[in-house]
Amino acid sequence: MKALLMKEYKKLTFTDVPDPVIESGHDFLVKVKAVSICGSDVHGFDGSTGRRKPPIIMGHEAAGEVVSTGKDVTGFKAGDRITFDSTIYCGSCFYCRNGQVNLCDNRMVLGVSCDDYRRHGAFAEYVVVPEHICFLLPEGLSYEEAAMTEPAGVAAHAFRLSPVGLNDTVAVVGAGLIGLLVLSILRASVSGKIIALDTDGNRRKTALDRGADAVFDPADPAAHKKILDLTGGRGVDRAFEAVGATAPIKTALSLVRKGGSVTLIGNVSPTIELPLQTVVTRQISLFGSCAIGGEYPIVMDMIARKKIDVASLISKKAPLSEGQIWFDKLYNREDNLLKVVLIP
Ligand SMILES: [Zn+2]
Ligand SMILES: [Zn+2]
Repeated sequence: MKALLMKEYKKLTFTDVPDPVIESGHDFLVKVKAVSICGSDVHGFDGSTGRRKPPIIMGHEAAGEVVSTGKDVTGFKAGDRITFDSTIYCGSCFYCRNGQVNLCDNRMVLGVSCDDYRRHGAFAEYVVVPEHICFLLPEGLSYEEAAMTEPAGVAAHAFRLSPVGLNDTVAVVGAGLIGLLVLSILRASVSGKIIALDTDGNRRKTALDRGADAVFDPADPAAHKKILDLTGGRGVDRAFEAVGATAPIKTALSLVRKGGSVTLIGNVSPTIELPLQTVVTRQISLFGSCAIGGEYPIVMDMIARKKIDVASLISKKAPLSEGQIWFDKLYNREDNLLKVVLIP
């Protein structure tokens, strides 16, 4: 089959590779119909995260059609339209049995190669996945939209583990793809004011178009005072941080009221500088949110019912053979791209 293989950092080759094979009776072979490029692929592409060690076929945000199934598969058949979780979890460790499959001790992420494992992903004509991570697509949901279920699930998981209360005012720091999806989920779920912050004017405009009540540039010295004015002088009840660096995390902490919370989704920087006394003396709760823990059916339904608009977040659909071009553009932050979906 054809696949987009990263043989060395930053070099993607559209080339022939052996077809993936079904290894267990519970696996099936999927013809990939759409697969989107994740920020973590772009950050892994230069080796900086250590989670895309060549050779690797990346790609974990995908949807496709079942081609053939292992002998023990009962819930799916050839021809089914499906998407799948990015995390392959074991189902039997402490965390899986506790319902926290995203924290599985034996987790493997599709399209990731690190010190512990290598699992080829979906930047290819075909991929093999186990039955227990797959979901049937609702009628009318396109493969391109379905490929966005994974990032929408990441946003939904962060929302679900945060104590967002009735009519809470919420700030979203970072209006990139995940921040915009958090914003959509908040808009569909809470009645309070939603404030989005981003240094990029285009992204602030997109946040307004997607339902933010107010948007600010965190670099604007007047922004903090204006946000206090919008929140009775107290600050927001909840903040979500979708970048993962010292400056935006400090912004989120500076905006939240005493007793409020900040949910951390972004993880670009391995370590950050934390204003400890702000957190302790203002009694701010910090939540780390990892991947997706059971939110697939929820967000698929929300996407299918247009409660989360993902179609407008897709900046470009391109053939898989053009993978290198679109990775380079995303890596160099060209053309203000949000999401690029590749079609094998
Ligand atoms: Zn992803
Ligand atoms: Zn497990």
